[in-house]
Amino acid sequence: GLADKLQQTFKKLRGRGKLSEADVNEAMREVRMALLEADVNFKVVKDFISRIKERAVGQEVMESLTPGQYVVKIVNDELTNLMGGTQSRITISSKPPTVVMLVGLQGAGKTTTAGKLAHYLKKQNKRPLLVAADIYRPAAIKQLEVLGEQLEIPVFSLGDRENPVTIAQKAIQRALAYANDIVIIDTAGRLHINEELMQELKSVKQAVKPHEILLVVDSMTGQDAVTVAENFNQQLGLDGVILTKLDGDARGGAALSIKAVTGCPIKFAGMGEKLDALEPFHPDRMASRILGMGDVLSLIEKAQTAIDLEKAQEMEKKFRKEEFTLDDFLDQMEQVRKLGPLDQILGMLPGMGNLKKLQDVKIDEKEIKRIEAIIRSMTKKERKDPAIINGSRRKRIALGSGTRVQEVNKLLKQFTEARKMMKKLQEMKKSGKKNSGFR
Ligand code: GDP
Ligand code: MG
Repeated sequence: GLADKLQQTFKKLRGRGKLSEADVNEAMREVRMALLEADVNFKVVKDFISRIKERAVGQEVMESLTPGQYVVKIVNDELTNLMGGTQSRITISSKPPTVVMLVGLQGAGKTTTAGKLAHYLKKQNKRPLLVAADIYRPAAIKQLEVLGEQLEIPVFSLGDRENPVTIAQKAIQRALAYANDIVIIDTAGRLHINEELMQELKSVKQAVKPHEILLVVDSMTGQDAVTVAENFNQQLGLDGVILTKLDGDARGGAALSIKAVTGCPIKFAGMGEKLDALEPFHPDRMASRILGMGDVLSLIEKAQTAIDLEKAQEMEKKFRKEEFTLDDFLDQMEQVRKLGPLDQILGMLPGMGNLKKLQDVKIDEKEIKRIEAIIRSMTKKERKDPAIINGSRRKRIALGSGTRVQEVNKLLKQFTEARKMMKKLQEMKKSGKKNSGFR
């Protein structure tokens, strides 16, 4: 993928002492190829490369002690700028309700994203109302209602008896009456952009004057996503874009082109089918991710919202003192489970993207119960110092917990893995602090 190619290029650069103009040119040729292959818009690539060259062949860079690093920093900066520089948030109206209208083609992920966004806002103590304004497919209304039920978020629908304009207007009245401070309208899409679709969306816009019109686009469609964004922006005027299925897009072309081509910032990214897989889009973090530096900040932020901070600090102390025990491990599992799919989280760590071992670390409710039983069957001493758990002890523990020796073995292995992983995290945090000038 893009990250691999760029990393190869930069590895070569980093290894150099001084850089010649030819070195920089060669590296930029490789970067250009990698970006084009990733389906980044041609003109965006051209401007990007020329901006980098301008900065990279300067005296300052060529004569610096670590010119390779310097060039990577410039590329990182420019990638960040390309995606809008800083995070773009949605505008919350001072006079509720804030009206958010989601638009886009069929299958882009509008309905799912409506649910995710409502869930995201609810966690921030907002009171969202979902609105089913896709009246052409009965299944679409049902889909939103099911999502609302799962999330315990109200869904306003009038079936397919009323037109989308009336539905949107009545939804806002209902939001006022029930003190819902955010209204999220899920609109209909089509397979292709057409006049009828645009007309309908324009009427809804006209009638309810949304504070945010957000285009939902599928990042997997690459440059098509950019064309769609350009088109919707011209006809409807967009306040931002939500890029879905970024979890499956190894190329990153849409993420890198949309802001530069349309001027519309990406506000959120969909990272999976699950309802908590929506993240605010951070250009700097995306740039680091593309450059293969992992997304440590996102991870830490995610961990902070889910993990009890005091507990986390306590754990950290234990790690430092190497007192982490199986009791702590059990605690940790409970905490990590709250974070969401572990493979998704670990994918953000540098060099851990393809860890095969993750299969072993997957946890579910039943698994936790079993682990708990096993750990509870250990003596205090064993929990503190798992190294003493030999074959006969393993047999006894298995018997006591109603499990098999293999399961005890598996747990002990997981524990060792977790310990290693936490160590790695600790080290990363330390080195992250040292290099903070780099970001
Ligand atoms: P709509 O027609 O625009 O309303 O699209 P839907 O919300 O019905 O989504 C279409 C499909 O895309 C569904 O199968 C979703 O589960 C899937 N989907 C939506 N967002 C994401 C995402 O961020 N990642 C992945 N992997 N799938 C997604
Ligand atoms: Mg839909």
